[in-house]
Amino acid sequence: VQISMQKVGICGSDVKYWTAGAIGDFIVKGPILLGHEASGIVTKLGPNVKNLKVGDRVAMDPHITCRSCEFCKSGRYNMCPDLFFLATPPDSGALARFHVHAADFVFKLPDNVSFEEGACVEPLSVGLNACRRVGVTMGNHVLITGAGPIGLCSLLVAKAYGAAAICITDIDAKRLEFAKSLGATHTYLIGKDDKPEELGHKIGQLMGGPPHQTIECSGAQFSVDLAVYATRHAGAVGIIGHGPPRVSFPIVTTVAKELDIKGCFRYVNTWPTLIEMISAGQINVKPIITHNFTIEETLQAFETAKSGAGIKVMIDCAKKMA
Ligand SMILES: [Zn+2]
Ligand SMILES: [Zn+2]
Repeated sequence: VQISMQKVGICGSDVKYWTAGAIGDFIVKGPILLGHEASGIVTKLGPNVKNLKVGDRVAMDPHITCRSCEFCKSGRYNMCPDLFFLATPPDSGALARFHVHAADFVFKLPDNVSFEEGACVEPLSVGLNACRRVGVTMGNHVLITGAGPIGLCSLLVAKAYGAAAICITDIDAKRLEFAKSLGATHTYLIGKDDKPEELGHKIGQLMGGPPHQTIECSGAQFSVDLAVYATRHAGAVGIIGHGPPRVSFPIVTTVAKELDIKGCFRYVNTWPTLIEMISAGQINVKPIITHNFTIEETLQAFETAKSGAGIKVMIDCAKKMA
């Protein structure tokens, strides 16, 4: 389907491709469009499209997968070896007036879900995938390390899952304050004198019992150590963040506690769930949208995102009628 793009959020990865030109093995070799947190209005249909009609307000899952490999067939399409993914080189993004996407990865938004919220389904999806991977459920204690956009989205999803206590850590007090306003029951400002092992115990006490699950969103070695020391015996640690290409684990503690360490890559089958949850008022993502720019102001928008001034920076791609 052809989509008249409305809102595109800027992700940390977009900024990284712009400034560093690469994330690991994904290297920008030629000009590409950025933007994968996207929503718009359907303007044209391909000949066999049945699930959408012209004029539908939609949000897009950035994947387009092969649909026939073992992973696609078993419902793990994020593992597809033959996939297209918006704004991941060499694949181009959706930050444009118009974009064409596969209809089965495009989802209709109910009237009460805005285009901004539709674009935020993407970062929320990272949080939902991690919560699913580690098995967050009602009454759990959840530790989230890192209060950037992904940590905050994980917080919103863990809350919607019915987590009883959610503690979030960061090195930035302002971010923690913001996390509290989104529903974190506890926050901890990590200082340079903190030791992961001691802090692990302290966080357990703070939360009234150690976390059943920890979701690591910072990519810092300190947080990986903290996750292992803090998490309850037989608990699970989901790893989303990656900073240095190698980090180490306190192996004896990991083994002795029988921790499940789970890598969390993007997401799979999350759009329908999150659109329902936003529409039902169970997840309120609006507060994380801190800045709005027009597509003509894209450079300024990227400068703002790079500066870390806001949480989620949105770009309005619609043509304004005078
Ligand atoms: Zn993103
Ligand atoms: Zn596949």
